[in-house]
Amino acid sequence: HATKKTMADHLRKYESLFTLTPQRMRMIVDAFEETLDKGLQKEGEVVPMIPTFVFGWPKGSETGSYVALDLGGTNLRVCLVTLQGGGKFEITQTKYRLSEEQKQEEGEALFDFCAKCLKTFVDSYLADFDLDGATIPLGFTFSYPCEQERIDHGRLIRWTKGFGNPNVEGHDVAAMFRSSLAKFGVPIELVSLINDTTGTLIASQYVNPRTRIGVIFGTGCNAAYMEKIGNIPKIKQLGLPDDGEMAINCEWGAFDSFSHEHLPRTKYDIDIDQSSNKPDEQAFEKCISGRYLGEIFRLVICEMIDDGSIFLGQNTYKIEKPYVLETAFLSLMEADPTDELLTVVGIFTHFYGLETTLAERQFFRALAKLIGTRAARLSACGIAAIVSKMGYLDQGCDVAADGSLYSKYPGFPDRVHQGLTDIFGPKGKNIRTVHAEDGSGVGSAIIAAMTNERR
Ligand code: ADP
Repeated sequence: HATKKTMADHLRKYESLFTLTPQRMRMIVDAFEETLDKGLQKEGEVVPMIPTFVFGWPKGSETGSYVALDLGGTNLRVCLVTLQGGGKFEITQTKYRLSEEQKQEEGEALFDFCAKCLKTFVDSYLADFDLDGATIPLGFTFSYPCEQERIDHGRLIRWTKGFGNPNVEGHDVAAMFRSSLAKFGVPIELVSLINDTTGTLIASQYVNPRTRIGVIFGTGCNAAYMEKIGNIPKIKQLGLPDDGEMAINCEWGAFDSFSHEHLPRTKYDIDIDQSSNKPDEQAFEKCISGRYLGEIFRLVICEMIDDGSIFLGQNTYKIEKPYVLETAFLSLMEADPTDELLTVVGIFTHFYGLETTLAERQFFRALAKLIGTRAARLSACGIAAIVSKMGYLDQGCDVAADGSLYSKYPGFPDRVHQGLTDIFGPKGKNIRTVHAEDGSGVGSAIIAAMTNERR
């Protein structure tokens, strides 16, 4: 009969499941680039490549005070942004955590909640503003795929990141939000509706002219970049000048959805997908973003519990509940500075009532590293697809990045950079990711200012 597998044997198995070779990455990049092009050609493609009606880069001279509201996935943020010109700004913000219930309640209730938070913010921070009957311009950062006809409009194509509020998909969220603002008498005028990636792209370019791409690694994963209007065939009928520019919100989290031909999905990825509220959708995002990495890890653990490899004789019900293992725990495990892996001990005893051996803890940390590294390398594939499509490699460019996964997961940026070098060779070093903090809020304000100037 077979001898008992050691933790090292288990690790080898997961290494082969989660490791992405440079060759495999290049294949993904090629398919990705093709998908991006398709999305620009016509409506209704898997990766929708949404025209944002943000025309070109900011001048840097935009000024004024704007309120920005950011509905991101985990938190609702309200900011007051004062643009001072010359690439300078000031920002004051408050955060409200969204409960899982709020992500499923009636759509109107969600927007009412946003309006009420705005009202509280206006009452406490803007009491001194002499409005004199005027309204404060608002940039609304709503980071779900919306089809736009103009900047202050957006029809929700579909919810992502676990949201499921009824009666919003297919509706103009700007109009819904305006009626909530009116209901609560908030003296605010929605002037622009954007995505956090577009905000990050624009805010970052305002301070760093090398910025060409904006990427978010948070609850979800997505990117935006600036495209020549002539290269967006699907909006030809608008008659905009071909040599003008417009930001594109890729909604790249949808890459490889439905067909599942390109990404090396494991059975854990498939399990997450099939038990999600949106099976088959957001295939790329489900391998990468903060909402799912902890769950991938947990599913591996559950498999090992089931086949009797770990926690024999212990009560494992706590860790067997879906989504109880947060991605932040993977960060903590990877960052554990002690030889005995005491942080890992703490996580397992405190949250799940489980005893661990040192060999198990070393395995858990190695597993976290595999899952976190795969996410970073897949992200590099998406960035590489835009870089290659736009011809940015030789000159190089900066990629503005934000989100907790990017800013808090140890080594995530380095792993993305390594991925880019694996794809492009030494020239991959020309592409640098840069942390762009508060991009969604500041970007929203800058775009609101750009919109006001165009009017
Ligand atoms: P948003 O919801 O606006 O994208 P964040 O950028 O903060 O907000 O992303 C939240 C996601 O990041 C959650 O899915 C959460 O699990 C994950 N996360 C939070 N803290 C960490 C951390 N320390 N390391 C890795 N992921 C984290």
